[in-house]
Amino acid sequence: MLKTHKIALDPNNKQATQFAQHCGYARVAYNHALADFKTGVDENVWRSHIELCRRFNAIKYDTYDWCQAMSQNASKNAIYTNLNDAVSRWKSGQNRFPKFKKRSHRKSYQADSGRGSIKVVGKRIQLPKIGEVRMFETLRYPGIICKVVISKQGHRWFASVTVETSVDEPDPRGKPVVGVDVGIKHLAVTSEGQYFENPKALRRYERKLKRLQRQLSRKVKGSRNWYKLKNKISKLHYRIVCIRNEAHHKATTAIVKGASRIGIESLNVAGMLKNHKLAKALSDASLSGFLEMLRYKAEAAAVKVVEADRFYPSSKTCSACGVVDSDLSLSDRTYNCSACGHTQDRDLNAAINLRNVAVGHTETQNACGDSVRPQQLGHESLRQEDSIAISDQLLLFSLS
Ligand SMILES: [Zn+2]
Repeated sequence: MLKTHKIALDPNNKQATQFAQHCGYARVAYNHALADFKTGVDENVWRSHIELCRRFNAIKYDTYDWCQAMSQNASKNAIYTNLNDAVSRWKSGQNRFPKFKKRSHRKSYQADSGRGSIKVVGKRIQLPKIGEVRMFETLRYPGIICKVVISKQGHRWFASVTVETSVDEPDPRGKPVVGVDVGIKHLAVTSEGQYFENPKALRRYERKLKRLQRQLSRKVKGSRNWYKLKNKISKLHYRIVCIRNEAHHKATTAIVKGASRIGIESLNVAGMLKNHKLAKALSDASLSGFLEMLRYKAEAAAVKVVEADRFYPSSKTCSACGVVDSDLSLSDRTYNCSACGHTQDRDLNAAINLRNVAVGHTETQNACGDSVRPQQLGHESLRQEDSIAISDQLLLFSLS
């Protein structure tokens, strides 16, 4: 089993410069090989990544003489892995033709020369041509290191270390089926009654961010003070991302650990972004990112995720009798069923509905949940669904 850890690095100034130089070298190699490939395509000559790498190696010490100080793994991996992937995705029709990488593009390079080539001892990683670099934490799983990618986010460098490990995941069988309702008021509410708070990271730093951006607009572009402020702003953005990520990681890990199957709703993000009042709160919560994280952690733990139909009114359905209450208003925090008198917190009610969707889901149905409906819904409520579907989703996001 392959596991990837992203660990923050603590390089000294010289090492940080070397990281940036290696990222630059990887970009140059990628762009050079891509240009070579493009010319080949125009002339009806197909050049494989092996051929492209050989042609790059033949000229690199003459054209880019500074690259002698670099680890040649950076250029080889840029062509063998990154360019090769981009070309095969284009070939299969999945992506468009690969683009040239810009200097302002996300900085990263792959440092290893294959399985087992990089050693980690305690909190130190041994990188070719750079030497021992301190890490902020040790590897979480033991095993053979297969891949190491160095990248920069905000002001900080990271190593993404892929390890081949034999650690088995705990068996999810015997645990309950859990429905998860996501929103702005609470990041997530589970049918088990767990509430996860939304950190509202952007909202917390919004005023500070605005003030800094105003100050930046008054500085001379490219001046020393302009760069200082620019760094300050990127650090603040980084902090906002970290706060959001921490909340997402804690919640998703806790949910996946306690479930054998998970029911979620499918979010109509494009529809919701049309509401400008909600757009900011929505992007602050980054709910699609949250659900994406939940999906990949569930997959790694062999927990199945069942997505409810896009038009399934999870907030407006009574979790006790299945009646759909289309009169539920934006401000109603409690669900009161007019048919059976059931009373419950609205988020918990929605989470239980999503659990019911996951319970009613059988192996023969589409894994994406195309035809998933809870059993107790009558024909009448099904007809009502479409008209109230979008307003149901909007409702969810207006409760900030
Ligand atoms: Zn009811």
